[in-house]
Amino acid sequence: MLTAEKVKQAAKAMGADCVGIGTPDRWDGAPIQMDPRFIMPEAKSVIAFAFRVMRGSLRGVEEGTFFSNYSSMGYGGLNWLYIPMTMMNVAKYIEDYGYEAIPLGHLSPWRAIDNVGNLRGLSRPVEPGKPAPDVMVHLRIAGFLCGLGEIGWSKMFLTPQFGPRQRLAVMLTEAELEPDPIMEPFLCDRCMMCAKDCPGDCIPTDQSRSVKVNLGGHDVEWGDIDHQRCSVYFRAGEILEDGQKGEYMPGRDDVGPSPLSPFYKKPANVYTHGEGISGSIGCTRACMIHLEQQGKLGNKFQTPFRRKPMWRVDWSAE
Ligand code: SF4
Ligand code: SF4
Repeated sequence: MLTAEKVKQAAKAMGADCVGIGTPDRWDGAPIQMDPRFIMPEAKSVIAFAFRVMRGSLRGVEEGTFFSNYSSMGYGGLNWLYIPMTMMNVAKYIEDYGYEAIPLGHLSPWRAIDNVGNLRGLSRPVEPGKPAPDVMVHLRIAGFLCGLGEIGWSKMFLTPQFGPRQRLAVMLTEAELEPDPIMEPFLCDRCMMCAKDCPGDCIPTDQSRSVKVNLGGHDVEWGDIDHQRCSVYFRAGEILEDGQKGEYMPGRDDVGPSPLSPFYKKPANVYTHGEGISGSIGCTRACMIHLEQQGKLGNKFQTPFRRKPMWRVDWSAE
């Protein structure tokens, strides 16, 4: 007989770091474009998985000497290599018990909606009452509804094991598994270190500028992030003023290198989304440092992450 414990043990043996299980009815009230029940109407369980981004993959960014590792061995490699392989093996494990299973990893390129929920004009519903393909199962919301952790003010998903330092994946299955409770938030204390260190001021410090949703009967709130600015600043670009022209990013002649980039031009991608050149200095590094200092995280280290003041590049003379 397939049990929740067996699935968790198997998934961890195959490479997942954390596993939580929710029920599909926790998505009651979800927008039609984000409801996993339109993908698998007979699903009995939704399983969320966390895969850690190794702290060491951020070391070269922190030193200012080695940036590609965060993409290749950090979140890009997880998104496009390690997570799909692990998830396919976990799905095969569940299907060997006679229950259909759908592994979901990084969904961005095909999803019908953009970051703020608007249809991107890519597709149309196959019949009335159905969403346009592809439905986007919001991984952070799934992580919350499956009891893996909480959503911080930075909108980053925070777990008690790794804080903001992980990628998420989801499995839909017809197997009925014992669900986990939704976790009561305790990690994010609204310290605003994420906002203070964000190079683009993309995370508000004003707590009235928030997004409020109800997830599975729980009120959840995060900062109203400026995703358009983040898409420049997380690549360590800086939006130029006064009509200045820059060559840092293809297709954006209004962007130059920020003090967080030692590169004359944004380097090539490692994996499709491998562009986190700033190492998410606010929403990941500052938050992780804060949560580690508070002793809140299970993944402990012998030495603190930040060992000297952050470097900056002076581009003013260029
Ligand atoms: S840095 Fe502070 S405010 Fe921001 S998400 Fe982390 S704990 Fe919350
Ligand atoms: S990824 Fe970088 S630019 Fe985007 S919100 Fe986080 S700290 Fe700010």
